[in-house]
Amino acid sequence: MKDTTDQPTPMMAQYLAIRDANPGALLFYRMGDFYEMFFDDAVAAAAALDIALTKRGTHGGEPIPMCGVPVHAAESYLLTLIRKGFRVAIAEQLEDPAEAKKRGSKSVVARDVVRLVTPGTLTEESLLEARRHNYLAAWAQVREDCALAWVDISTGVFQVMDCAHARLAPELARLAPRELLAADGSGLDDLAAEAGAALTDLHASAFDSAAGARRLCSLYGVETLDGFGSFTRAELAAMGAIVDYLELTQKGKLPLLRPPVRERAGGAMQIDAATRRNLELTQALSGGREGSLLSAIDRTVTAAGARLLERRISAPSRDLPLIHARQDAVASLVDDPRLMADLRTALARVPDMDRALSRLALDRGGPRDLAAIRAGLAQGAAIAARLPIEAAPVLRDAARDLTGHDDLIRLLDDALVAEPPLLARDGGFVASGHDKDLDQTRRLRDEGRGVIAGMQADYAALAGVQSLKIKHNNVLGYFIETTTTHAERMMAPPLNATFIHRQTTANQIRFTTVDLSELETRILNARDRALEIERGIFEQLRAAVLEQAAAIGQAARALAEIDLAAAFADIATGEGWTRPQVDDSRAFVIEGGRHPVVERALKRKADSFVANDCALTEGETPAIWLLTGPNMAGKSTFLRQNALIAVLAQAGAFVPARRAHIGLVSQLFSRVGAADDLARGRSTFMVEMVETAAILNQADDRALVILDEIGRGTATWDGLSIAWAVMEHLHEANRCRALFATHYHEMTALSAKLDGVENATVAVREWEGEVIFLHEVRKGAADRSYGVQVARLAGLPASVVERARAVLDALESGEREGAARPAALIDDLPLFRAVPPAPPPARVKESPLEARMKDIHPDALTPREALDLIYDLKALS
Ligand code: ADP
Repeated sequence: MKDTTDQPTPMMAQYLAIRDANPGALLFYRMGDFYEMFFDDAVAAAAALDIALTKRGTHGGEPIPMCGVPVHAAESYLLTLIRKGFRVAIAEQLEDPAEAKKRGSKSVVARDVVRLVTPGTLTEESLLEARRHNYLAAWAQVREDCALAWVDISTGVFQVMDCAHARLAPELARLAPRELLAADGSGLDDLAAEAGAALTDLHASAFDSAAGARRLCSLYGVETLDGFGSFTRAELAAMGAIVDYLELTQKGKLPLLRPPVRERAGGAMQIDAATRRNLELTQALSGGREGSLLSAIDRTVTAAGARLLERRISAPSRDLPLIHARQDAVASLVDDPRLMADLRTALARVPDMDRALSRLALDRGGPRDLAAIRAGLAQGAAIAARLPIEAAPVLRDAARDLTGHDDLIRLLDDALVAEPPLLARDGGFVASGHDKDLDQTRRLRDEGRGVIAGMQADYAALAGVQSLKIKHNNVLGYFIETTTTHAERMMAPPLNATFIHRQTTANQIRFTTVDLSELETRILNARDRALEIERGIFEQLRAAVLEQAAAIGQAARALAEIDLAAAFADIATGEGWTRPQVDDSRAFVIEGGRHPVVERALKRKADSFVANDCALTEGETPAIWLLTGPNMAGKSTFLRQNALIAVLAQAGAFVPARRAHIGLVSQLFSRVGAADDLARGRSTFMVEMVETAAILNQADDRALVILDEIGRGTATWDGLSIAWAVMEHLHEANRCRALFATHYHEMTALSAKLDGVENATVAVREWEGEVIFLHEVRKGAADRSYGVQVARLAGLPASVVERARAVLDALESGEREGAARPAALIDDLPLFRAVPPAPPPARVKESPLEARMKDIHPDALTPREALDLIYDLKALS
């Protein structure tokens, strides 16, 4: 019968109460083997997961929409939902349904949310990308102070830094957190969206710095945080908010977090979001990992090593001794290829200990996680044994962290079977011989019949009754049966001390014994007991692992460090990379430099890459190269390759060059290519100018700046003037090292005016009217731009190319004849002045509409401005 009253069923009442207590999340409500969703949740989830939407009962007279996913397959559905931006609250049954029945027929199984699954708080292998970090970040502001804290609960990394609002975008770009926590009304929506993070607003109270300090003290079981360093109030607030959120989402079970580490400002090369994007450090412009620097150079063989590589590439160091120590480690392996190969073979068998450890800490782990710790530590010990005493310090330190785990390895090895199952629930992971009680219990379970048969023979001998049998039925369970002829003797002393009478039938008499009933209970419970013992052992092993959590974490980091050094050594050996000289000079001298990503792409097409030199300076004068050359000649490639070489060098790697000498780079800036940003209502030109402004305002004399085709997005004279002034500013004010590519040939005149500017060009050869790209960078200026030839190569119709050639000829001869035009003008130009446009040819009359039209630069318009413009034009017509 349908329930048409407004009164919800007890189950629905429970559902609604749980849902209301967990706003903002889809509720997965456990019912037997399914997680069910109801009402709007069901509608949204069915659409997102593409599963059937059904109905179940009614609520307030309306049918209740419902959908469900099987528990055993829940993870893949969760993954889809998280990727689509949902948060999911998981409500489990907290008691056996039989318990609920005992309380009365109407009573509902107790349920509650055991976990809130959000993008920043994942731990399951299937929900995580193995080779990437999964950061949860929080940004806090306490009066003038601001701080950013971040944590990867799947590995225990916990860090914090001072971070003004202006620095937030670049830091988020570096970390790429999956989720960002901020106080209500913080207005970080755009920043979070740009960084690809889900923004979670928390009540301001979550960011209370005093409460934060208390939460941190209780998390680490300390009286004061002084032992971890001193933190500002904003830092305490940000870290406190993270801990608070973890308590909320993990429902009180806190993950293993390493003590928070304060990141030193200035410890890493600063790279802003636009530069990161332009240089495609960890992500290609197309969005994926493929095509990025990271994917081209990643030779790590462990997931933790890959994550470390991503961290190093995202934040190359500025600490010379550290860079040198890392280079020493790589160099020592380059010099010993046998050792490198051995290490890599051993490392390939190292599982992801960090993530196994975090699942065990959150009580979400299984036997396989224990086995991962066992295998990781055992491989670690073997790797440590292979590293010679005189290994480079980075490797020696790692070897030290890999030793001393023998007891735990032995315990796990003794306790676990070779290939344990995923879940502890079904048992079967404890090795035989580890626990006598378990072995015996399992024997009973497996060999129950054999044990009974042995017992039957014993009792037959004791009673002197050959026909005595042990039988089983559902009423009595196991019993001993003889014919009634033996009844009297068996029920008299001494046999009645053993045989206890249970039942007499027409011909048979039935007994039990203390041992038999004990055996019976044990057989019947054997399975449950075996499981229980295994569960107990699992808990013991888990406790033993967690007791060593800090040391295991240390070992995992050591393995990642060795993996990374070996991976850098492997690529250096395979690709002919060299050790760069990094020091605190201002040099930037690269001989035979290559672009690792372009080179790889060319190799696939059996093409070879032309190596190029770059020598900015070895002295004290600022050094800027002005690079001209036709489109497609290889200017962008050259610019980027030099930036990437700097990144690699300071990440501790060898570099794709014959020789490299790099004075420490503090900041890396690049303005490369043109990308429209219509979503934010900015035109190409506007984006370009915003990025250029950031460079001019921030670059210091240790910066390396890469500028490609500045001013392209606007009219020629505007563009040239801007490029000109930008160049002068870099030279005079920023005094940094820079590579500047331009198609404005007029700019080559600057090299005569500015000491530190040198002209270079990418050579091409013209042959029978066709342009051949040599991809060779040489000193000097390009003679012409070959744009028409390039257009032809691109497949522009022949008629258009012909016409373009004719127009070009006319223009060029006009330029030659009009003597005082660009080149001469530029020579007379004082510093910091824009080049005035050539005077327009005298026109008889120009209507206001024509005048207005002339001033329009479509590339420079936002959609909004374009609309306004149409209204303007309409008014003028
Ligand atoms: P530009 O910026 O001058 O328009 P790009 O740097 O985009 O030119 O280079 C165009 C293409 O030329 C690249 O996609 C690449 O295939 C090739 N190329 C560039 N530099 C080299 C080089 N040093 N050796 C070989 N091929 C190169």
